[in-house]
Amino acid sequence: MQIGFIGLGHMGGPMAANLLKAGHALTVFDLSPAALEDAQKAGAKVAASPRAAAEASETVITMLPAAAHVKAVYLNEDDGVLAGARAGVPLIDSSTIDPATARLVADAARAHGNSFADAPVSGGVVGAQAGTLTFMVGADEALFETLKPVLAGMGKNMVRCGETGTGQIAKICNNLLLAISMIGVAEAMKLGEVLGIDPTKLASIINTSTGRCWSSDTCNPYPNILPNAPASRGYSGGFGADLMLKDLGLAVDAARQAKQPVFLGALAQQLYQSMSQQGLGDLDFSGIIKLYGKE
Ligand code: NAD
Repeated sequence: MQIGFIGLGHMGGPMAANLLKAGHALTVFDLSPAALEDAQKAGAKVAASPRAAAEASETVITMLPAAAHVKAVYLNEDDGVLAGARAGVPLIDSSTIDPATARLVADAARAHGNSFADAPVSGGVVGAQAGTLTFMVGADEALFETLKPVLAGMGKNMVRCGETGTGQIAKICNNLLLAISMIGVAEAMKLGEVLGIDPTKLASIINTSTGRCWSSDTCNPYPNILPNAPASRGYSGGFGADLMLKDLGLAVDAARQAKQPVFLGALAQQLYQSMSQQGLGDLDFSGIIKLYGKE
């Protein structure tokens, strides 16, 4: 299939490379010349604008930093995706953004004769490289079935969450919970250490007890409990605290608009903000344990 791909960063770069490997023809656009050069070397054609990438394509995928970029790339009257996409061409946005913007872009796409799916991902850069991402898709059933073969070139699991916007809702609710559970595990591990139990013993008890969760048994924030966790390599790699802070911002904003309290989410946002202020925003988010005192 002829695919337009816009946004070739940490995630989009390897996702585009996997689509090429799966046999699709890609026309790409990014603001970064280096990202374009890499994609060209891998076999993609380079377009001069989102509009030109869309004009050449039967499906368009975007993987951009935040809502402002998504709005600009789709809606710009002169050189946006909608200015170039032929009627009937489906559009997929895999960026993590707020559900309201996803719906706004979907409405504009519909008015232009295009279907639009929000399809944010989990699995991180490692999953993007390995082609094992999970896609949380907001789309009607017919569109979801149409998009599945394309998404299969980049991921292993595709879940239809409901209508437009629900992919983003699933993504921000999951990350809200993850942010909070990581803080809970960090707090418990640090308290245990200070009160005098061996941290490895404490972790093994938690992991066979009711406190067990992904943050305790797969990404424990206490160093050297799990050899492959970011905590055991100075919190490098993994999911950056600044990205978690961005996702918490989306969740807290969406909650404010819905007048729905998120007591712990708001507190978690402040804790990751404090981590970021201390210059630790590039560390894996499990580095939040550093707020509890020295290792
Ligand atoms: P990134 O900053 O590495 O890449 C974004 C790319 O978009 C860059 O190459 C940038 O040049 C390009 N870009 C920005 N504005 C543009 C424009 N107007 N036109 C064309 N290109 C433009 O970001 P990333 O880490 O690849 O993340 C992308 C999205 O995926 C974000 O919404 C992020 O929250 C989400 N996400 C990231 C991860 C992760 O682990 N990095 C995991 C899951 C979801």
